Amino acid sequence: MLAARVVMDQGVQVEGINFYTGFCVEGHTHAIRKQDADRPKRNNALWVAELLRIRLHILDVVEEYKDVVLNPAHGYGANLNPCLDCKVFMVRKALQWMHGQGFDFIITGEVIGQRPMSQRRETLPVVARESGAEDRLLRPLCARLLPESLPEREGWVDRNRLLDFNGRSRKPQMALAARLGIRDYAQPAGGCCFLTDRSYSAKLADLWRSRGERRYELDDIMLLKVGRHLRPRPHFKLIVAREEGEGRFLEGYRHQFTHLQTVSHGGPLVLVDGRCDAEDLRLAARVAARYSQGRDAEHVEVEVGRPGGGSYALKVRPLAAEDVPPDWHI
Ligand code: SF4
Repeated sequence: MLAARVVMDQGVQVEGINFYTGFCVEGHTHAIRKQDADRPKRNNALWVAELLRIRLHILDVVEEYKDVVLNPAHGYGANLNPCLDCKVFMVRKALQWMHGQGFDFIITGEVIGQRPMSQRRETLPVVARESGAEDRLLRPLCARLLPESLPEREGWVDRNRLLDFNGRSRKPQMALAARLGIRDYAQPAGGCCFLTDRSYSAKLADLWRSRGERRYELDDIMLLKVGRHLRPRPHFKLIVAREEGEGRFLEGYRHQFTHLQTVSHGGPLVLVDGRCDAEDLRLAARVAARYSQGRDAEHVEVEVGRPGGGSYALKVRPLAAEDVPPDWHI
């Protein structure tokens, strides 16, 4: 937002690009969880574009992005976040778009030293070089600490009116926002990508391990964002809705998964991912009962629904807390 304003204030026409990778936090988690009901249900990129009065182009890169996640040449960050390869990919895509639309250069909001992996002094040139953008990539918020870019040399933007932000502190950005009259903005460092999340990355790694190969589809990575994930046996896992909003979201997957619902007591919807025999399903039903209001009851009745339709009932004893070993929790 700030980078765009700094350049727009020099009379440059700016349009925005937002990449949809499938790992985005916004527009998903906050939208479905009931406990997040107070948060604004908005796509921050669209909202920012609206505030800036610029056009925004949302590019769905789910398929192409898989290669970035599965084979990052520069490796992962603290979790399964391939930040450097991701930046290279996004700037490369932006460059293609730029050429196709007749624009002249790309700006990003990057700041030297703001992120440990992709925004170090040594890695900023890597993004410019490997994306092919080279000196058509301008970082207005720290440009004065970097070599001159093409837009500066050509006089399209005045280097003296660009900035020299550096480091992790967001105070200079907040001060600039205040100077520009921007009072409402998305939380800085609010975590916009699930790949930086430790628990999400553990679930993704578990998915690959259980399949014996590293691949995913969009539904796989959406489901990793929702519910409590337990793997009682190597060949199946359970996704247990933690609250009403998640339950409603998981309802949409009932036609694809065997699913469990307690009927004698209130309880969450549980999806079963994997191939299960009757004994496995009995165990799964006991887990479902454990997370229901009948957890202390002698018996709980659980309906087992088949993905293609049809169901049957099981009467099970709920698992006790001590019967759910910590290593079942992914
Ligand atoms: S946090 Fe996610 S979207 Fe952002 S650079 Fe890293 S991998 Fe890409």
